[in-house]
Amino acid sequence: MSDKKIDWKNLGFDYQKTNKSFMSVYKDGEWDEGELTDDNFIRISEASTSLHYGQQCFEGLKAYRTKDGEIQLFRTDENAKRMQRSCDKILMPRVPVDKFVDAVKKVVKANEEFVPPYGTGATLYVRPFMIGTGHTVGVKPAPEYIFRIFVLPVGSYFKGGLSPVDFVTTEYDRAAPQGTGAAKVGGNYAASLEAHKEAVEKGYADCIYLDAKTHTKIEEVGAANFFGITKDNVFVTPDSPSILPSITKYSLMYIAENVLGMKVEERDVLIDELDEFKEAGACGTAAVITPIGAITHKDKEHVFYSKEEVGPVTKKLYETLVGIQTGDIEAPEGWIFKV
Ligand SMILES: *Cc1c(COP(=O)(O)O)cnc(C)c1O
Repeated sequence: MSDKKIDWKNLGFDYQKTNKSFMSVYKDGEWDEGELTDDNFIRISEASTSLHYGQQCFEGLKAYRTKDGEIQLFRTDENAKRMQRSCDKILMPRVPVDKFVDAVKKVVKANEEFVPPYGTGATLYVRPFMIGTGHTVGVKPAPEYIFRIFVLPVGSYFKGGLSPVDFVTTEYDRAAPQGTGAAKVGGNYAASLEAHKEAVEKGYADCIYLDAKTHTKIEEVGAANFFGITKDNVFVTPDSPSILPSITKYSLMYIAENVLGMKVEERDVLIDELDEFKEAGACGTAAVITPIGAITHKDKEHVFYSKEEVGPVTKKLYETLVGIQTGDIEAPEGWIFKV
């Protein structure tokens, strides 16, 4: 037990050690059972593929406290399946879906006191990841792997309610059409650091990546997926093999169609056709939805709903999704995993 009182309302997104992490090792062709550990350091060979050749991937999800004090997870099986696809892509062994979900539940349970109270907007962030380990200097898949999960309490992204932020397009590419853009691997993030830094220096929240081949279509908004609401109320989101398939995005598509009765389209979104959208946003686990105030492309600024206020459809999507995640609104079947 930690005896430090946590100020739930003022949490950011900073690392802190919690009670336990989960750790499982893959050796001689199989995963061990895995265990919880107090140690927040990992000892690996200096010749690990994860350190030199980027053979690693990760996931991100959250545990939520409901009104009656229970703890629940959101679509954890989808994170497990996405991690399997990331592993397939860079030749790492899959973690079975059940093992993944059980391990997340175990580590959240062991850190129960760090799950923020209902109503604070804070949540417990869960970070599963896999790294190639063992002695390997040549470029080839590692002989051994570590699957690990740590957790930390994180604050609400928007302290004073949902407020729009502005983005700028970048000339840099995050991922190539036949590359690793759809896998949640660290290399894509290394490729994004410089573009992010330059966007922030220009006064924007982050950059918008266009498709690497033609630089005409929207791909990702920083490390989040893009969506727009057209003037006739259609939820539109880009379709591309180099976008990371966001679980938040697919959940919003479901909500738009089945709860809000909207039409939903996954298709090309041209950067020169932003006029068709009355609202736009970026979505992902960390911020849920970031309303987009404006996008600047080639020195021209396009404002969506408003640079100060969130639009009504974006707000409704946000409230419905957060309501489901925190247990205030009944979830579609199979979305919630009780801890
Ligand atoms: C993780 C991630 C997202 C968001 O995915 P969620 O499943 O919604 O959290 C979007 N883009 C990139 C590049 C990501 O790595």
